[in-house]
Amino acid sequence: MFTKILIANRGEIACRVAATARRMGIKTVAVYSEVDANAKHVAVCDEAVLIGPAPAKESYLRADKIIEVALATGAQAIHPGYGFLSENEGFAEACAKAGLAFIGPPASAIRAMGSKSAAKALMETARVPLVPGYHGDDQDAGLLQSQADKIGYPVLLKASAGGGGKGMRIVERSADFKSALESCKREAINSFGDDKVLVEKYLTRPRHIEIQVFADTHGGCVYLFERDCSVQRRHQKVLEEAPAPDMTAERRAAMGEAAVAAAKAVGYVGAGTVEFIANQDGSFYFMEMNTRLQVEHPVTEMITGLDLVEWQLRVAAGEKLPLRQEQLRINGHAIEARVYAENPEKGFLPSIGTLRHMRTPAAVTFELGGGTDGPAAVRIDSGVREGDAISPFYDPMIAKLIIWGEDRAQALQRMAQALSEYQIVGLASNIAFLHRLVTSKPFSGADLDTGLIERHHAALFPSAGQAGLPVLALAVAALLGDEKKSAGGDPWGDSDGWRMNGTLRRQLDFADDGNAYPLTVSYGSDSWLLELGTNQALLQVTARQGSRLSLKLGDHAVHGDVVRDGETFHVFSDGKHAVLNWADPLAHAGESEAEGGRLTAPMPGKIVAVLTQAGATVEAGTPLLIMEAMKMEHTIAAPGPGVVEDLLYAVGDQVAEGAQLLAFKLAETSAA
Ligand code: ADP
Ligand code: ADP
Ligand code: MG
Repeated sequence: MFTKILIANRGEIACRVAATARRMGIKTVAVYSEVDANAKHVAVCDEAVLIGPAPAKESYLRADKIIEVALATGAQAIHPGYGFLSENEGFAEACAKAGLAFIGPPASAIRAMGSKSAAKALMETARVPLVPGYHGDDQDAGLLQSQADKIGYPVLLKASAGGGGKGMRIVERSADFKSALESCKREAINSFGDDKVLVEKYLTRPRHIEIQVFADTHGGCVYLFERDCSVQRRHQKVLEEAPAPDMTAERRAAMGEAAVAAAKAVGYVGAGTVEFIANQDGSFYFMEMNTRLQVEHPVTEMITGLDLVEWQLRVAAGEKLPLRQEQLRINGHAIEARVYAENPEKGFLPSIGTLRHMRTPAAVTFELGGGTDGPAAVRIDSGVREGDAISPFYDPMIAKLIIWGEDRAQALQRMAQALSEYQIVGLASNIAFLHRLVTSKPFSGADLDTGLIERHHAALFPSAGQAGLPVLALAVAALLGDEKKSAGGDPWGDSDGWRMNGTLRRQLDFADDGNAYPLTVSYGSDSWLLELGTNQALLQVTARQGSRLSLKLGDHAVHGDVVRDGETFHVFSDGKHAVLNWADPLAHAGESEAEGGRLTAPMPGKIVAVLTQAGATVEAGTPLLIMEAMKMEHTIAAPGPGVVEDLLYAVGDQVAEGAQLLAFKLAETSAA
């Protein structure tokens, strides 16, 4: 076995690999970019070496630099994690040349599966079932269009080199094909440096079911069952579970054997995932093979009780697979939720910022291998801590929350509870959305397909209700407590002796996205009287520790966390996150309103297309610019009918977050 390995990655997966290495007594070397100097993965490894500036191209994708560091630090092997260099055949080859073990498949297997087109051609000869489509080398636009016409709409355009749900376009009708092809090729060249595409029949209501395979260098190859990853947004997984609901033993064996056949066809070694798209009737087709450890591998670990990173290390060190197919068993049910820094209400737009406040559900310590108490019920794989930032340079995943239960119902219940205990302030996250998703009828009823989120959009995005008095009381208590503290008094000891400007009654105006809450607070001897319209209750603070508050509101006990950011109060209680703004009468005196019609960059990025010209008169919603940020395209559209007065950026320009992108004048709307 190796005594020291280098981990060529960052974030949660680098921490995950380091945890197993530590348990096995293997020393770890981290590499990091300038913005990651204080990152968690640097802290959890035994050594860490700076390899370059923040952009991945200049750091985590610098194969030469990473190999140099491995040699200099005496590492014998490199674990690439996922993303970055994990599916880069040149890197696997360079490792071998340098005398280092690459903890992954041979370069030839990566090459064979690296292009979705070439992989499909190969699978065709291995008699693995394929989605009908065109995956040839001829990329003539006219030919691609005629192939799409022949397949029949809707079709899916896919970047052959694609990954992470990027570089895909659904085309509903022939007339839309040309522009979809252009946009797909543009994203493909930007994200993957290769604009080759394939065309596939777009299946309606399919499920994404994938098989975990493992092969060793002695000819052994097994499958570690399936994962259902149907719940996706933007073709990227949000929830993953194992086993797949409604899976029969026959279908599991058929898919497992097809996956093993696919792996054997390319001389596979190590951990890999064969992704299938399945129809509701049970038929399934090969989609692609991911030649690395998958983001969602923990659900497989939970139901099998195995440590897949340990298996990877053993296989890379030349050992045989620890178990044979007939020794593998499924125990219970596991679900993973990807906690992302993103805004589900705004089309899942990635969000960046600092994790000012982060409280995670109580995790049952993750114990792989030797644990005798059975699987952990709650596992959190995270690469960030409170105070860390999610930057625009890398993937916006904050953590993975992985839950085990005796069965799906128990896993779901534990997941809902864990999500309700997860608190984040400082950036937008999908936590509340995940909670609605896992408790929704379609998901809890296992009515799964890849269109679940879109089809149930209305139910999953209910209009925000009114904040209740308990939530408002928590915000009020935090505010009054802060004032008292800054007035130098003992916060909760003697509210009777303290008066605000000599008044006993005071108005506090709070508001959220849709509602205003004009509250009145009357100071009593040992409590406050809180009033909102005809609603009123006596409020007493029973305890406050950090963000945690306990109140008595009338005869109810209320608990929650309040995190304050200036005049914004984040209230976490009863599993919900409310954001309340306090209209401080003393703040913002003299500030003027921003003028309408400013179109600004939602995040730092690059302009990839300008779709309008100065002087153009446009309708509401007309696409004006396309910018690329966090490896995705974002279309900037006209906020209303109006005139483009000036273009401020050209294709290729970098823009800062909040930068004005163009001068736009909204048309005067005639008064009603
Ligand atoms: P999975 O199939 O396991 O869900 P994804 O395809 O979503 O994995 O990608 C896994 C991770 O790798 C994600 O964090 C994604 O952002 C990242 N990733 C995918 N493709 C690339 C790439 N070409 N370069 C860098 N990172 C990538
Ligand atoms: P990536 O490399 O980005 O993971 P995949 O080929 O694995 O790309 O596809 C990602 C997702 O896109 C799938 O999980 C599925 O939801 C959807 N998808 C892919 N191919 C099809 C298809 N032919 N019909 C319908 N949905 C598809
Ligand atoms: Mg995929």
